Amino acid sequence: MADLRVTLNDGSPIPQLGFGVYHVPPPDTARVVRTALGLGYRHVDTAQGYGNEAQVGEGLRASGVPREDVWITTKLDDGRHGYDEARAALAESLDRLGTDYVDLFLIHRPKGADVETWRAMCALRDEGRVRSIGLSNFSRRGVRELVDATGVVPAVHQIRVNPRTPHRAMQRFHRRRGIVTESWGPLREGRLVAHPTARRVAERVGATPAQVILRWHLQRGLVVFPKSSDPGRLAENLGALDVELSRRDLAAIDRMRRRP
Ligand code: NAD
Repeated sequence: MADLRVTLNDGSPIPQLGFGVYHVPPPDTARVVRTALGLGYRHVDTAQGYGNEAQVGEGLRASGVPREDVWITTKLDDGRHGYDEARAALAESLDRLGTDYVDLFLIHRPKGADVETWRAMCALRDEGRVRSIGLSNFSRRGVRELVDATGVVPAVHQIRVNPRTPHRAMQRFHRRRGIVTESWGPLREGRLVAHPTARRVAERVGATPAQVILRWHLQRGLVVFPKSSDPGRLAENLGALDVELSRRDLAAIDRMRRRP
């Protein structure tokens, strides 16, 4: 299996394909994490708001995979913005996860007092309690405001990207600033697997529709972490690492874009 990584602007190599645990019920999460790590995933995307960080930690320990081999992203809960609150919230996440650092800590969404929150994230990174810091669901203006106030450019910006809504202007902005784009909802919450283009390309390259959509994200330089609780689908999605799309295939998927 290929080990694709993207180097962030702080030098950290993030595994380009992971799995997300949004809407994975806490009683199922440890099993899903253990299964995914057993299959070969090395990147899990959770959040304080998902209510399953403790079970992510449990699954990691049960897997037997060393902590340092797994990339863990979590996100600041909406109710915990502000300098002191953000720091306290991270400490609670570390307790729940049972680890002394997270690889990536994101502000889940903008909330007003973002500069102070961003200063807290910078301090947590300087102290080594988080390795990389980033944002999610911000506008370009919101990102610029934080960079201008602190001089610290986020390592990633996690936004909803899929071939139907690729947010090309935002992706160009990220490239100019050295920010890696993470795609949430990469399969459009599962709906793209039924799209005729995804099915046609899949047939042409001998893969599944989910694999070709995920491969489009990978070949476009995006970091991606589809969600599934099903072992078969987890394995299928991981198979995107070994699919190869030609320029023609990529262009066909680009044309799925919704006309503005
Ligand atoms: P997704 O595009 O990953 O779709 C998930 C759905 O697709 C699943 O419910 C499953 O039914 C289906 N699916 C998965 N694999 C499949 C396969 N091989 N074949 C057919 N169907 C399949 O959407 P998502 O779960 O919303 O996003 C992925 C991750 O992104 C989340 O788990 C979470 O970690 C993250 N996320 C972040 C935010 C944010 O605000 N930052 C918001 C939503 C999600």
